Amino acid sequence: MSRGGYDADGQFLGSPTQAQRRPNIVIVLIDTLRADAVAHMPYLRSLAAQGVSFLDATAPTSWTQPSITSLLTGLLPHKHGADTPGDARPLPGAITTFPEVLRRAYGYQTAAFMGGKWFDDSQGTLQGFETRHGDYLLRGATEILAPWVAKRVQQAPQLLFLHTYEAHDPYGARNHPWPVRAPIHPQAHAVAAGGDVPADRWQEVWQFLTDTVARETVRGQRDRQALNRIVQWTLRGCELDPRPDILERLRAEYEQGVTWVDGNLRTTCEWLKAQGVLNAESILVVTSDHGEAFGEHGMIGHGRRLDDELVRIPLIIRGPGPFSGGRTVSGTVGLIDLFPTLLDYMGAEGIPGVDGLSVLAGLKAGEVRDRPVVSEVRAVPQTLGEPRSWVRTALRTTRWKWELVYDVGDGTLAEHVFDLHADPGAMRDLVTATGELPAALTSDPLLCGEIEALRDRCWGEARATAARAYSLYGVDVGPLVTERPASCWPRDTAPPVIPPAPPR
Ligand SMILES: [Zn+2]
Repeated sequence: MSRGGYDADGQFLGSPTQAQRRPNIVIVLIDTLRADAVAHMPYLRSLAAQGVSFLDATAPTSWTQPSITSLLTGLLPHKHGADTPGDARPLPGAITTFPEVLRRAYGYQTAAFMGGKWFDDSQGTLQGFETRHGDYLLRGATEILAPWVAKRVQQAPQLLFLHTYEAHDPYGARNHPWPVRAPIHPQAHAVAAGGDVPADRWQEVWQFLTDTVARETVRGQRDRQALNRIVQWTLRGCELDPRPDILERLRAEYEQGVTWVDGNLRTTCEWLKAQGVLNAESILVVTSDHGEAFGEHGMIGHGRRLDDELVRIPLIIRGPGPFSGGRTVSGTVGLIDLFPTLLDYMGAEGIPGVDGLSVLAGLKAGEVRDRPVVSEVRAVPQTLGEPRSWVRTALRTTRWKWELVYDVGDGTLAEHVFDLHADPGAMRDLVTATGELPAALTSDPLLCGEIEALRDRCWGEARATAARAYSLYGVDVGPLVTERPASCWPRDTAPPVIPPAPPR
């Protein structure tokens, strides 16, 4: 039974007297940081050597807005809904965020310094942060943060959330400013006109496509259509021809950029320590919202898919007690478990009904219990060049990676399973190889129960996605699967009720 209170709007307020500790909490979220990027970050490794690092942390999706919204709410993307590119649907105010609980129930001063994009006030994701700042960079962070640090009430506990795109593509560009590009790169225009790009110009087009500033300058229907064609060309090109030389160069640029970010992280953390924001009782978290692909499964960048290179992230916590000792922690953990774990440590009550779970007990024991962690992503047509609409759901344990892909456009449904013990890179799909789920997986009732629930949800989500594609863009996504495919759905289970077709 909940011991917390609710306000007149039904928002959870927590129990003010319950918290035993109210440490300063600083969360640094380095956008697009792969789990293995830590190898190129000596300062982050030094933090890990003082704190705890989770070996198997998974993001709830593979792109920024829904992932950070999930972190701040503890909800999977399909529940908070801020998960469709091109759809500006904001986070409903009725959803309580963790910063709201910390501020309203436990007296925290809350501040978010965000890298920009996806997080303006109309989106609602930052509800609960008293101070909101856009266009944040770790580079020069001390100047940006100084006014807030000077103004803070020293007696009040602080929640400081720092988000930066400095590791995001275009890799290293925020370290060494590049000249501002034309709204559409001339070479990219050639692609849009139906031409091809010489191999030695491919990199230029990729840099244009991945330059947030340049991409944002593309206005107007004609140019937008041209951009979508370019993106489709890029995706197609990557899937057909991963071009190892380009992938290697991109990867090297990414790793150099990450090392540079690490230096800025050091400067920022040392300054916060000098200002007293980071002290002996404080908790410092360094993590990410998703990873980045370099051709492992035929794509570059992020979003769209849920492969490990896209959803495995670093999660390093440095603080007193259970967050100390330089320990590595095995067992699966989700990014959405972070705030429930911190509130548990405080002795405070979390938000009822969230998907995230505290892993504090496992931390104290030295091993987090392995449990299935879910990620999901969906697309509607005409966003980022996607020609079709689909829903992907993945489930991960330390051994298994299971994925369901529902292509709403052609009504096909595919299920994939990888045994990560035997196949760490998830290259051999056991369903394709054998035509059925492996016996070692189906003998695990917990895992099978989760998979069955996800199958049902994916079915419903596919319909919701189709309806949104229609309402947003007037796109008729074509036939939907009206019966459960026998290869995937148990025959003895009735299919979910199908909502009516979108209005014409
Ligand atoms: Zn991101």
